[in-house]
Amino acid sequence: MEDLRRCTKCVLPETHETIVFNEDGVCNICTGQVFKESSINWQDRKKELDKIVETYRGKYDYDCIVPYSGGKDSTWTLDYLVKEYGLKPLVVCFDHGFMRPNLLKNTLQTAKKLGVDLHTFTPNWHVVRKLMLQSLLEKGDFCWHCHTGIFSYPMWVAIKYHVPLVIWGEPSAEYTAYYSYDQIEEVDEKRFNRFVNLGISSDDMFVRLGGELDPRDLKPYTYPPLSELRKIEYRSICLGSYVPWDVKKNVAVIHRDLGWKGDQVENVPPEFNYEKIECYMQGVRDYIKYIKRGYTRPTHLGSIDIRNSRLERDEAIKMISTYEGKRPPSLDLFLDFLGLTEDQFMEIVQEHMVSPYKHDPKKVMPGEKTHDFDQWQRHDPMPKKETEEQLKRWQRRKAVQHGS
Ligand SMILES: [Zn+2]
Repeated sequence: MEDLRRCTKCVLPETHETIVFNEDGVCNICTGQVFKESSINWQDRKKELDKIVETYRGKYDYDCIVPYSGGKDSTWTLDYLVKEYGLKPLVVCFDHGFMRPNLLKNTLQTAKKLGVDLHTFTPNWHVVRKLMLQSLLEKGDFCWHCHTGIFSYPMWVAIKYHVPLVIWGEPSAEYTAYYSYDQIEEVDEKRFNRFVNLGISSDDMFVRLGGELDPRDLKPYTYPPLSELRKIEYRSICLGSYVPWDVKKNVAVIHRDLGWKGDQVENVPPEFNYEKIECYMQGVRDYIKYIKRGYTRPTHLGSIDIRNSRLERDEAIKMISTYEGKRPPSLDLFLDFLGLTEDQFMEIVQEHMVSPYKHDPKKVMPGEKTHDFDQWQRHDPMPKKETEEQLKRWQRRKAVQHGS
């Protein structure tokens, strides 16, 4: 385990985004949680949600849109809206390209059991791999296409199908301090620019990719113009702003009622098998986070459990040392898809290290394959020439930025 200052109540380290410690060394995520538990009148919040739902019910082809990944949060959201309110939702799924077999099974089974229409969109892979490489270079985070697509695409569907109410799952106050629980968070363009798109708009992305793409290829990653959203009188909210979010309870409900199944995830303890089972690149995502910030999911998951009094702090510390920072087998696929060598990868990611963490690649141990590794879809790799051109363009841009 790395030598970082951590919250004295949970185990979040100083390299966590938006973290601030108070004089007792307790982090602002922990103090925000106390507010959620003690100061919110959840009965009033629920009544507000009742009102919103009644405003939109029965007036359009669908009562609402539920953006859906097949993971625990969107599954519970969908289950709740159908059972508690009897809504007729259009379920919108953005396929990021790395869906796992168990997840696809969960999705189809949930749609059938609940009796809902499922709309899936799979974007152009040739574009996706360019976007992944570019966002890795710029931000040390290859998921730009997924972050932006997941939040933009359902809004385009809302406009196209004229379904103004969009209901998301958990609010971001649950995990970061970009928003706090005392403000009700609207999932809008402001939020999109603030923490979804990594500070890169699709116009920027177009330019950074050398203007090579058809601009229409970037539309699924572009937040629709506010004027068009206002025309349909849209409303985009998180269910978790109105109903208290308890992940473990929610998982128990969807497991019991829908047969929803968790899955093994690279470098995560088996007791958290309900988390981030959507994407077989999750292990690479976590590994990158470790190289940049010296911590990963066990820290995050342990912290949530400590706050909910389900785990002792020293047990969390033990879990962190056992599971964090191993090289995930999914990295081989990732390098192949983008045409990178492991040295190139390490060099790119280490440019994004967050002080005071210093990564030492020599200390890294190999991680284990998950049971479904051989069933993960193998995509066509980016042609070597394309990778090289993109890397060269990036080197030139950096040289200009550094004035050399
Ligand atoms: Zn804390």
